[in-house]
Amino acid sequence: MGLFAMLAAIAAVALAEHGNLRGAAAQPWDYANFHVGDWQKKGYPLCAGLPALPEHPHNEWQSPIDIPPRPDGAKARADDGEGLQLSAEGEGCHRVRMEHNGHTWEANFAALGCTSLVATWKGKNYTMQELHFHVESENMLGGHHQDMEVHMVHQADDGSQLVIAQFLARSQAVDEENPFLNETFRLFEQTYRDVELSGMLMNPYAGLLRAGEEFYSFLGSLTTPPCTSGLEWIVMREPTWISPGDMDSFEEYLMSPAGYQADSYGRDDRPVQPLNGRPIALGSISATNFLGGGTSGAPALSP
Ligand SMILES: [Zn+2]
Repeated sequence: MGLFAMLAAIAAVALAEHGNLRGAAAQPWDYANFHVGDWQKKGYPLCAGLPALPEHPHNEWQSPIDIPPRPDGAKARADDGEGLQLSAEGEGCHRVRMEHNGHTWEANFAALGCTSLVATWKGKNYTMQELHFHVESENMLGGHHQDMEVHMVHQADDGSQLVIAQFLARSQAVDEENPFLNETFRLFEQTYRDVELSGMLMNPYAGLLRAGEEFYSFLGSLTTPPCTSGLEWIVMREPTWISPGDMDSFEEYLMSPAGYQADSYGRDDRPVQPLNGRPIALGSISATNFLGGGTSGAPALSP
């Protein structure tokens, strides 16, 4: 079935109206003035990145960062046999909350009870909660931004969090486009309600990750208020494609009154934060516990 036909087969059923998932904030925040550090002044003290806070060790390890192309931790991979391995499993979700939340576009799985997507990292299982987008990329690589970045936010039973990040590069040709992103953006453009995918599943692992793919891993923070630190970060080395039209529609949203981003120049990326000596290691996606289909030609919403 062609992508268009597959998309046409999606029955997007509005399940419920919903409010802002992020709950009551200390004060409204935006991206307009954050480069002068105003988030901490609006009631989010962790965003200042001060070290040695009693309940937040290594709060100085904030995100995003500029990843050195050859981090010191790279040698750990050779020293450690198989190296750091991530596994990512699950069939995907039938029900997804498609949210335009004023800061980004977010597809939320946990809000509708789907716990199917599980990443195993350093012996702990993390369940995917939601994914969302940034333009331009938040993390940098060797001093360079990519066009966009998608964050897959996971949480373990003990409350600890893991973000799996994938860089997105604006494609130049139709055959370079990513089917998962194409179809996900069609949903964002059609609706911002809870949707039920009739007879299909949304699986970001299958759509975005590849077995054997290498990544950088390090400790960091939420890149939005309250900037909570101590998060595990995994950033894939190689970008996947985003279509120019999808990128344009997301940027238009950020510049629209609905995005509350009229002063942000159509961007929603926090500037990179100091490395402050944090270790950065290389790892790869385990080939054995991975159900994903790869980034090229993989059906995003599989039957
Ligand atoms: Zn993010």
